[in-house]
Amino acid sequence: MPETGVQSAHIHERAGKTLGDVRLQEAYKSSTLRLYTHRLQAMSEVPGFDSLRDRARAIKAEVIEHLDEYLAEFADSVERQGGKVHWAETAEEVCGAVRRIAEAAGVREFVKSKTMVGEEVELNEALESAGIRGIETDLGELIIQLAGERPAHIVAPAIHKTRQDVAELFADHLHSERTTEPERLTAIARRALREAFSRAGLGVSGANFAVAETGTIVLVENEGNIRLCTTAPRVHVALVGIEKIIPRFKDLAVFLRLLGRSGTGQKLTAYTSLLSGPRRDSEDGPAEMHVVLVDNGRVRTLSDEKMRESLYCIRCGACLNACPVYRKIGGHAYGWVYSGPIGALITPEFNGISQARELPFASSLCGACREVCPVRINIPDLLLHLRGKAQTQHAPAASGAPRGEKFSMQLWAWAMKRPRAYEWGSRLARLAQRFWQRGQWIPKAPVFPMSRWTDQRDFPALASRTFRERWKKRPGG
Ligand code: SF4
Repeated sequence: MPETGVQSAHIHERAGKTLGDVRLQEAYKSSTLRLYTHRLQAMSEVPGFDSLRDRARAIKAEVIEHLDEYLAEFADSVERQGGKVHWAETAEEVCGAVRRIAEAAGVREFVKSKTMVGEEVELNEALESAGIRGIETDLGELIIQLAGERPAHIVAPAIHKTRQDVAELFADHLHSERTTEPERLTAIARRALREAFSRAGLGVSGANFAVAETGTIVLVENEGNIRLCTTAPRVHVALVGIEKIIPRFKDLAVFLRLLGRSGTGQKLTAYTSLLSGPRRDSEDGPAEMHVVLVDNGRVRTLSDEKMRESLYCIRCGACLNACPVYRKIGGHAYGWVYSGPIGALITPEFNGISQARELPFASSLCGACREVCPVRINIPDLLLHLRGKAQTQHAPAASGAPRGEKFSMQLWAWAMKRPRAYEWGSRLARLAQRFWQRGQWIPKAPVFPMSRWTDQRDFPALASRTFRERWKKRPGG
């Protein structure tokens, strides 16, 4: 069973583990760079990509500002199409609703497609304790379910697993031959999942978008498992975060063009499913369709005018692939189901700042996330806002920054106001660094707090000549 609850307080230990594992470092680096490069390529093929982003942002802003009205419209549209709407304020209420639906249908096993809301509310664990077993059908989700882990990436949950890892997991849990050939591994998963689809009486999905005008649930994927999850079982349940609403059907054209390209660099994902209510006469599909509208911290986020912007997110994962911190520390370091820059925003918001006050600080604020975000969320700005919240609403017992950091900053501020002292200080520092300097870097600093820095990475050595010295020596200086 994967760990449960928010574990963000352990970010330093967890990050240390990833940083010390060469195989994990390589897996994160190669996968994120591949997705990042594909995105750049896909963007360059669409004239006016930036205006598309502006349009998407404007639509999201409109929805979030009038969310109550759009939610009511969506719920009416779903019921008009023959679906049933359930409102859930907490994770327990979400799991309770799905459990009651499963029990009413007499189901002891359900198939599940990739849903981050399902991960967030720990649906599998909750239903398992009620004797109802969930089987993940997305290949990446199946891999991490067998490994007993949480997703390491919003879009690619098993981004950190190698073929060898998957071969071991399949051999141990699915009792298959031990092979590292991708085609054979996929065939093994397909065989196991086909049996699950044929047995299951209930399919659970998430939703990429939920159209208020028509009550349509929109799902994108590359494997086809979502199609089976939502149509083969007699009952379908869609878990929908309330921020997934878009107003009109025609708005989909904007978001679908952005989502695939931003997430994986695809023009469109291989399958796009539009589901409007249960089956009609003479149609295939589920006899019942339930939509669970999930709050679980989103209304609290809405109440903070600044943080509201984080609800524009369409979960494309582009900010993770661009983030230099995520690339190094990996998804599990963030301690919950959402990782990377967007995880650092919504984990404290959805769970309360006291649960994840460390996350807003896990950023260099370089702005790479803002550059790639298809809905232009100003992530660094929101992280700074959350840092303020963390300090004012949930300062640690010692209050504020560690003493070493405070002392360094005070010393720095003192020297910056005294040019002579600054000059002599930097001369002394340059002399002292010679003992530890290797080329342009200091790989191991001898004193705290610098030694904390060089535990994980090299420190750039001071330049041999200061700016002032170079300025004086310039021609005509
Ligand atoms: S914050 Fe932006 S880039 Fe990151 S997952 Fe959400 S939509 Fe994508």
